[in-house]
Amino acid sequence: MSNVKVNTVCGEVSSSELGLTLAHEHLVIGMPGWEYDNTMAPFNRKEAVDACMETMRQIKAVGIKTLIDPAPMDVGRMPDLYREVSEKSGIHIICTTGYYSESAGASTYWKSLAAFKDVVDDIAEMFITEITSGIANTGIKAGAIKVASSEGAITEYERRFFRAAARAHKETGVPIITHTTGGTMGPEQAELLIAEGANPGNIMIGHMSDNVDMAYHLSVLQQGVFDSMDRLGLQGIENIPMDEEKYPVIIELIKTGYNRQIMLSHDSIAYWLGRRIFDQIPEEARWMLENSHPLHLFQNIIPVLKKGGVTDEQVRIVLEDNPRSLFEAR
Ligand SMILES: [Zn+2]
Repeated sequence: MSNVKVNTVCGEVSSSELGLTLAHEHLVIGMPGWEYDNTMAPFNRKEAVDACMETMRQIKAVGIKTLIDPAPMDVGRMPDLYREVSEKSGIHIICTTGYYSESAGASTYWKSLAAFKDVVDDIAEMFITEITSGIANTGIKAGAIKVASSEGAITEYERRFFRAAARAHKETGVPIITHTTGGTMGPEQAELLIAEGANPGNIMIGHMSDNVDMAYHLSVLQQGVFDSMDRLGLQGIENIPMDEEKYPVIIELIKTGYNRQIMLSHDSIAYWLGRRIFDQIPEEARWMLENSHPLHLFQNIIPVLKKGGVTDEQVRIVLEDNPRSLFEAR
């Protein structure tokens, strides 16, 4: 591996300094429209920062040095808040440029533009500018590109972002992080990005843990991309499998030689923008999110993996070498 410069929200750091990394967690998330609920649920920045700082304190205590927050720009991405949290905590935070899926994101803007012209170049230019010059007036540069697909399809709308992401990746060298829905389209995402010229070693296919079929994982891994088991602790909700079903898949993949292509993370959210979703969930359903916090891996999962024969060194490779390699493989 050779060192590269990585954009964090506090500026460039060498990839060799990233250390133990959580590859897919969120500080703040707000589903599109949250910002219009500001009569009943106004944004309280101090409360948000305090919640994020509590998460930082917890992950720092287990040795995490870097957190990747791949929030697309249309689900409440807040680069300047990330910078404040990074400065106060000393944890490197890497944010992304990119867009969410057609069904769950704020899709009407680019759809209306696309009615009149091919917008792939415009999207690519936006991604490249956020990576090379910075996001709006913050001076904060995106360190990766996020794209997303729907359940069972990469829609025409979403394909524009995948093509633009491949273009921006080729020009800037930064990696591509994806969101899959319902444990579908992982292999198709990898194929599309690679066909558009992206380097497999810089692609991380996300939410792979929503599918526990080994053949599905192999069809992604065999393309040389990262298989991100990044929804550990999320279970039951939206048909996501139980963690117990994910463990044998993780252990098998690590032990059969795919150790250097696996990521482990939680897709946890430190603070919900708008109404606190957790508070809206009925008591009897709360168990679904109970383990969706960034210590779950350390408290509950790693011990299970070790019982299954995974070594300390293999865990270190997954949490340290693999995220680093995602940025370095060019
Ligand atoms: Zn996420």
